[in-house]
Amino acid sequence: MRSFDYIPAENADSAIAEAAKPETRFLAGGTTLVDLMKLNVERPSRLVDLTRISGLDTIEVTKDVIRIGALAKMSKVADHSDIKDAAPVLSESLWRAASAQLRNMASIGGNLMQRTRCTYFRDPGAYSNCNKRNPGSGCAALEGVNRNHAVLGTSDACIAIYPGDFAVSLVAFDANVLVRGGTERSIPIDEFYLLPGLTPHIEHELSPGEMIVGIEIPRCAALKRSHYLKVRDRASYEFAAASAAVGIELEDDGKTIRDVRIALGGVATKPWRVRSVEDALKGKQLDEARLRSAAAASVQGSRSSGHNAFKIDLAPKVVARALMTVGGIA
Ligand code: SF4
Repeated sequence: MRSFDYIPAENADSAIAEAAKPETRFLAGGTTLVDLMKLNVERPSRLVDLTRISGLDTIEVTKDVIRIGALAKMSKVADHSDIKDAAPVLSESLWRAASAQLRNMASIGGNLMQRTRCTYFRDPGAYSNCNKRNPGSGCAALEGVNRNHAVLGTSDACIAIYPGDFAVSLVAFDANVLVRGGTERSIPIDEFYLLPGLTPHIEHELSPGEMIVGIEIPRCAALKRSHYLKVRDRASYEFAAASAAVGIELEDDGKTIRDVRIALGGVATKPWRVRSVEDALKGKQLDEARLRSAAAASVQGSRSSGHNAFKIDLAPKVVARALMTVGGIA
């Protein structure tokens, strides 16, 4: 790890002013950034510590919206009684992420900014060819071991998976990322994350110096009846082989689907909303055969790189099982 300047920020304005300077990163829980600095993947000259800024760790649940401050800890949000009641999928996706120690350290804003676990990306000593770390150098994963890589949203330049869980649930329910820089703005989370295309080193919509200050999730009936199903190689402290964040709202007859939300994790280069499957199910009767048939289309457009072909078979099963659970027919 090379040396860097450490700058404790007293308020958001001073943090934003400092972050506008070159080679600067924000530091909150540090669970991703410090790891990557030790690996020589991230090499900032300056770190602006946000943890002294007051008022950014609040959690508010009103009748219309859930607001979570960027510095709220993952564990605190996961265990919040109003969130567990109004939005089980948010709590479940956080509980199933990382380890207890990491959840106690990591902030919600930092969670949104976590970077891929591609082993080639994280090992610059052994692999120089990584377009995300070193634009134009190639992609070691394409001809390498790619069992944990993406099958959706990939490009010839990068097949790295989006590794998180929480953002998958946010994408399913149209959350907005609240940002401050020169001005304040709100970015729909589905637009916050970018596809790799030819520029996989550009991962999100934030401009230099912009800081995430919070997240807003609009409340709805499907959010209250929601679930996060994560399938992985072991029961804890493991990334998803495939996951689904889902929610459902039924008509008064208890059988017809009025609203449904579906997003996939563990299979794509960004949290992956499957609106085509949602549209196919709205207004239809809830039954297992229909859910399984519709879920098959959730991997439409997928592309295997070899070892990861199993994800194309697994993901629709995860979607169907999650929908059957929230529909009460599992
Ligand atoms: Fe780098 Fe992306 Fe290829 Fe991994 S998949 S080696 S992050 S370019």
